[in-house]
Amino acid sequence: MQDLKSRQQAQDEALLQRFEAVQSTLSKQPSLPSCEVALIVVTKTFPLARIAPLLSHGHRRFGENRVQEASDKWDGVRDEYPDLCLHAVGALQSNKALQAVRLFDVIHSLDRPRLAYALAEAMAKTSKNVECFVQVNVGCEQQKAGVALKELESFLRCCREKCALPVVGLMCLPPHEETPAPYFALLANLAREHGLLQLSMGMSADYVEALAFGATHVRIGSAIMGSRDENIPSA
Ligand SMILES: *Cc1c(COP(=O)(O)O)cnc(C)c1O
Repeated sequence: MQDLKSRQQAQDEALLQRFEAVQSTLSKQPSLPSCEVALIVVTKTFPLARIAPLLSHGHRRFGENRVQEASDKWDGVRDEYPDLCLHAVGALQSNKALQAVRLFDVIHSLDRPRLAYALAEAMAKTSKNVECFVQVNVGCEQQKAGVALKELESFLRCCREKCALPVVGLMCLPPHEETPAPYFALLANLAREHGLLQLSMGMSADYVEALAFGATHVRIGSAIMGSRDENIPSA
């Protein structure tokens, strides 16, 4: 038993060390002088028990990619931590819009009109404003979520004018196994072009580069939480 307890303790300490290391890297990046970069710890597949040390440490901004998993995990947490800030970072089905609006504070995966209309309806119904990032398919990958580059302008108009959604920025996942820098640069240019100030880009493997291109939100999972391999697969 003692062994188990000390192993748990060592695991928690290692987690906090990785968290501090990422925070320290973020604080050294002068990407936006007047604005702190928002660190979203992506906790998909990890149970609350593994996340608890971060909550105790004072961190409040977390990301999940599935509505049901997020709801099971986080629903009870808000009572104890009312300043919890939950970010939806994964593909969102429009039939889950209402549940998502109730649960999340920010959505990073707005990428099609049907979802925009469903979110607008859900926000009206709940009188809750959930900030949205429009996800852009920067690598023009067929299988990937995100609005196509050539449709971005009309989609933004749909979100802003028809749906009156609070669109605050753009989000991307660059293609795997490619240098992400040109994609980060592209996303930053698109945001500037469309008068959007926030950029959700950068994950464990590439967040330092994303910062160099002006990321305002980084979504970091494994570099803080550890490998997801031994966890139950999530999407
Ligand atoms: C899982 C996930 C992340 C975090 O990935 P890591 O490589 O573990 O940092 C970030 N963004 C999205 C959309 C994700 O699904």
